[in-house]
Amino acid sequence: MKINKILAVACALLTVSCHRTDRVKPAIPADREMEKKIEEVLSGMTLDEKVGQMLQLNLDVLGKKGVKPWQLDEYTLDTLIRNWKVGSFLNVAGRAATVDEWQERIGKIQEYSLKYIGIPTIYGLDQNHGASYTQGSVIFPQPINVAATFDTDVVFDMARTTAYESRACNCPWVFNPTLDLGRDPRWSRIWESFGEDAVVNSRMAQAEVRGYQGDDNNHLGSKNVAVSVKHYFGYGAPFSGKDRTPAYISPQMLREKYFAPFKAAIEAGALTVMVNSGSINGVPVHSSYEYLTEWLKEDLNWDGMIVTDWADINSLYKREKVAKDKKDAIRIAINAGIDMSMDPYSVDFCVLLKELVEEGEVKMERIDDAVRRILRLKFRLGLFDCPNTPAADYPDFASEEHVALARRAALESEVLLKNNGILPLKAGLKLLVTGPNANQMRCLNGGWTYTWQGKNAEDLSEPYNTIYEALSNRFGAANVILEQGVTYNEKGAYWKENKPEIEKAVRAAARADVIVACIGENSYCETPGNLTDLTLSENQRNLVKALAKTGKPMVLVLNEGRPRLVADIEPLASAVVDVLLPGNYGGDALAALLAGDENFSARLPYTYPKEINSLITYDYKVSEQANTISGAYDYDAQVTQQWPFGYGLSYTTFEYSPLRLAETTFAAGDVLHFEIDVRNTGNRAGKEIVLLYSSDLVASLTPDCRRLRDFKKIELQPGESRTVSFELPADDLAFVGADGRWVLEPGDFRFSVGTQGTLATCIQK
Ligand code: BGC
Repeated sequence: MKINKILAVACALLTVSCHRTDRVKPAIPADREMEKKIEEVLSGMTLDEKVGQMLQLNLDVLGKKGVKPWQLDEYTLDTLIRNWKVGSFLNVAGRAATVDEWQERIGKIQEYSLKYIGIPTIYGLDQNHGASYTQGSVIFPQPINVAATFDTDVVFDMARTTAYESRACNCPWVFNPTLDLGRDPRWSRIWESFGEDAVVNSRMAQAEVRGYQGDDNNHLGSKNVAVSVKHYFGYGAPFSGKDRTPAYISPQMLREKYFAPFKAAIEAGALTVMVNSGSINGVPVHSSYEYLTEWLKEDLNWDGMIVTDWADINSLYKREKVAKDKKDAIRIAINAGIDMSMDPYSVDFCVLLKELVEEGEVKMERIDDAVRRILRLKFRLGLFDCPNTPAADYPDFASEEHVALARRAALESEVLLKNNGILPLKAGLKLLVTGPNANQMRCLNGGWTYTWQGKNAEDLSEPYNTIYEALSNRFGAANVILEQGVTYNEKGAYWKENKPEIEKAVRAAARADVIVACIGENSYCETPGNLTDLTLSENQRNLVKALAKTGKPMVLVLNEGRPRLVADIEPLASAVVDVLLPGNYGGDALAALLAGDENFSARLPYTYPKEINSLITYDYKVSEQANTISGAYDYDAQVTQQWPFGYGLSYTTFEYSPLRLAETTFAAGDVLHFEIDVRNTGNRAGKEIVLLYSSDLVASLTPDCRRLRDFKKIELQPGESRTVSFELPADDLAFVGADGRWVLEPGDFRFSVGTQGTLATCIQK
């Protein structure tokens, strides 16, 4: 006992009191006038109206039965809204609608809502990379590409443009951004994320919230939409690698990494949050009072609204088995802090929640709190004053300027991973373009593009160029041969391929100087995108191996939602480019980059694995990379990776000066000042991403080998040099201690930028 006490005192002395906390002031100051109006509306509502506001139904339920293409059934709409006072609707009916169709559909729902409830509806859509559920909208690269740009201006532009194009459709709410850290390459939604790092995700989150919601989160303009940051939280770490399966995450990881981007988004003013469909350490997030009410609403002082993910209150009894039936599940979820239930196909929620209130199982205060949050959202969006936004007010829908932004985003998001000098491709070379990804738009765009899975929508992306078409345009049709060798089976699951015709591609290679092998994955989304083997398909690897035997130099173009293992074919290639999921302008961007008209500048936002049993992230523990230990037993460990996080090449080269740090010692509350000179030592202009890392050399809990703390992207002309500076609050170096509290411990820290490093010591003042 005594010894414990002495140890406790000693530990306290070793701890520098740190200002870091996850309790913050409200991000959006209350608007008293608005709050008064909310109370007025609330006080006039019946319980039926209140529970109706808390329900969100899927558009499908409003369709005429058996009629194709989809048509709104006004009779059903009238009945549902008159009887159930439904407060929100979501989703697309099958495939992307035109602006006019959206105007009509959402406009009609609005008309009936105002007629029967007097409260505007709020419509939500997965406009995930551009207004991607709207025909003719400008499709941006997927978020994983946007992360690869390491450019927060790009993500801001994407969000602002998507908000504008969504409002042109009369849609004021998007289920975006996705802030699940993409730390497990097996997971089917990696490409919807900003990759594996918490700082990158947090920065992107803040830029997206600003882009979507504008500068005044209390009064959004008619060109802004509300975000729903999702899927709160830990969703991207399923233990099995399969979507919507349990995660097991340490308390440190949860707070330091998985919570961080959500906190950043809420501090930036995010108005709604969508919840993780799965469980963390056995606790389904939809059932967690601690995570929903304490962490989000109380600690962050957040007056926003929490919506479930798809039918996820039902999941509490159907999948998670923490509730015995639907009524029990509703009781648990609403009491935990859920404000709106996305219960796509049923109004049972209203009946059961009303019963629960009448039986005293859910308190009226909880209902009022939820409805207040929903009304506040509708007020903040201006829906009471301006329930519809007519298309005519959005003349810049799909404008040249929007297209230019998407093109720039695509160009800055394709990562050059290997180049033995063959790139840029010289003019006049004859190219064989091969592989299943060579000539279709679906795989360039990925899921959430025109349809949920991104399939059956090639007609809508017809105006844009596949890789083959883009290369033909750039290098001349006569110089580009198409022979795919392997193709996807469009009728089956995303991973199905047709019987390969590899010999045809090999024969065609005889007529070419260079082979451009476009390999990877077809589009998928969520659970249908689950995978049994991360290795790239056997047919595709066989294609590359057979083509390599021709002796012709080969450029591998990876076009994939997650990093498929390519260890056995990478050595056969002269160059490798990972275009990830670059969207409608991704083919054109690739052609410009391969030709050298533009320079590569993207970096990998995740660790590209080499072996299935070496799935690590860049911030692994030191013990995961132990060198050989001498003695009878060699307890070594190796970190094996194909390409590291932050890796990416350019057509130019950069040189870094030694890293300068103004402080040799620092304490909690201080700010550290770093400077480094970066020089373009090549002969063409280029953009460089400068990444600042820290390593806590000794800590009371095993520290990560390194952590990204900041990044900047700069452009340099040949020979030009620029000083890049970083200001790092010392409290950012804190970690979550064994007692669950943030702590900054005295001791040495190493900081690094590129190959340059320096040390500083944390002291107690
Ligand atoms: C997905 C969410 C999406 C929602 C509404 C769910 O299946 O997990 O990301 O926003 O559907 O479409």
